[in-house]
Amino acid sequence: MKAIVLHVEDIALKKGNRPYFFRQLIASIRPRLSDVGDFRVFAKDNRVFVVTDDERSLERAFRLAPCFMGVALARKSTSVQPDIGAIAGAALALAEQSAFTSFKVETRRSSKKHPFTSPEVNQAVGAAIQAKTSARVDLTKPEQTFWVDVLQDEALVASEQVKGFGGLPVGSSGRALCLFSGGIDSPVAAFLAMQRGLKVDLVHFSAFPYVRFVNEEKQRLLAERLALFQGATRIYRVGIGEVQQRLAAHVPKRLLVVFTRRTMLRIAATLAQRFGCGALLTGESLGQVASQTLENLKVIDQASPVLTLRPLIGLGKQAIVGIARQIGTFSISIQQDEDCCQLFLPRHPETRAGLEEVLAVESGLPVHAWEEEALEALESYDVFPALQGSPLENGGGTLIREDRPLVYGSVS
Ligand code: ATP
Ligand code: MG
Repeated sequence: MKAIVLHVEDIALKKGNRPYFFRQLIASIRPRLSDVGDFRVFAKDNRVFVVTDDERSLERAFRLAPCFMGVALARKSTSVQPDIGAIAGAALALAEQSAFTSFKVETRRSSKKHPFTSPEVNQAVGAAIQAKTSARVDLTKPEQTFWVDVLQDEALVASEQVKGFGGLPVGSSGRALCLFSGGIDSPVAAFLAMQRGLKVDLVHFSAFPYVRFVNEEKQRLLAERLALFQGATRIYRVGIGEVQQRLAAHVPKRLLVVFTRRTMLRIAATLAQRFGCGALLTGESLGQVASQTLENLKVIDQASPVLTLRPLIGLGKQAIVGIARQIGTFSISIQQDEDCCQLFLPRHPETRAGLEEVLAVESGLPVHAWEEEALEALESYDVFPALQGSPLENGGGTLIREDRPLVYGSVS
C-alpha cells in the first residue's frame, strides 16, 4: 500500500485532546484533498494516512500536504509487513527509482514489540541497497536517505519527504478577521494566525471612490496564496475614501492615521461580529512605522470592542520578510499599488497620540454614520487555492515558487 503519511508536532503534545485535534486535522484537509483526487484519510499511530491507488493523485497530495496547517512532515510511504525482509524489499524498489552515489537508512521504531532493533534494520537494509546499487553509505551528507518508520503492525518506508509548517489544524482555534492591506506584513500575520489554528477571513479597505480598486488583483493573488494553507478564503472589501476625506477635513492632520485606523478597526469589528469572527488580526509590529508605537496602538485599540491580535508584534522586518518569502507572498506584496493609508498622509504623523484628544475630536463627528454608509457598499467574494497553473497541476517542481522553496529532503 502507498500512502502520504503526515506527521504532527504540536498535536502530538496534546495528550488527552489528541483525538480531537486529529479529527480537526482530518476535517480540515479532507475537502482540500478532494480537489486533487479520491483518498482514504484516517488517523493511526499518531499520524494521518492519505491513501489512494492512483499514483498521480498521490503525487499531488504529496505536493499539497506541507501546506496543511498541523502537518510538520509528509512522507510518500510504502507500507509493508514489519519484518526486515519486507522493509528491505520496499527500500530496494524505491532505490531503483532514483540515482544516487551515497545514501543512509534512518530507522525509527515507534513500537518496541518487534524482535529487531533500529540499528539492525539500518544495517540490513543498507547492505541490501549497497549490494544492489554499489552506492556508498554516508551518514553525514547522503545524497539519498531512506526513512523506515516501524509501527505496531506495519512498517513505512520512504525515500521522499517534505517539511510542513506544523502548528494546529485550521479551524481548531476558531475564526478571525484579518485587516489585509496587501503589504508585506498582513499576509504574514494571517498565515501565523492560521498556523495557530485560526480560520482567517480578510478585509481590505481602499480609498474608493478616490482611488479605484486598483489593487484588486494583488489582493486576489495574495489571498490565493493564503488559501493554499486554509482552503477557500473570504475577502471583504470596504471603500473608506469618503470617510477618510471627511476625517481629513475635521481632524488634526498629524492624527489622521490614527483616526483612519480607528475607523478601520471599528468597521472590521462590526464585520467580525456579523460574520462570527472571534478576533481581529493586524500586521502591526512594534515601532515599525510611526503609527505603531505603544501610545498609538493603545489609542487605535480602544476603538474596537473585539479582541485584536497582532501576531507580528515582536518580529523585526527581516524575520517578517523571511516568512513572507517562505509562504510565497513576498513577491506579490512588493508589487506597486496604491494604499489608502498613503492618501491624505501627513508628513509628520503623531507618534504619541493622546486618547483624550482623539476622543474629544471624535465625539463631535458622526463617524458611526459615515462608517455605516461605507459598510452599505460592502463587497465580498471567495478566493480558492490556485491549483491551476501552479506546479501542483502537473505534479512537478516545488509547491511554492519563491526564492526559498519549502525544503524537500532531510529535515533534521
Ligand atoms: P502591511 O505590510 O500589512 O501593509 P505596514 O507595515 O504597511 O503593514 P501599516 O500600513 O501601518 O503597516 O498597517 C498596519 C496594519 O494595519 C496592516 O498590517 C494591516 O493589518 C492594517 N491595514 C493597513 N492598511 C490597511 C488597508 N488598506 N486595509 C486593511 N488593513 C489595513
Ligand atoms: Mg501597509
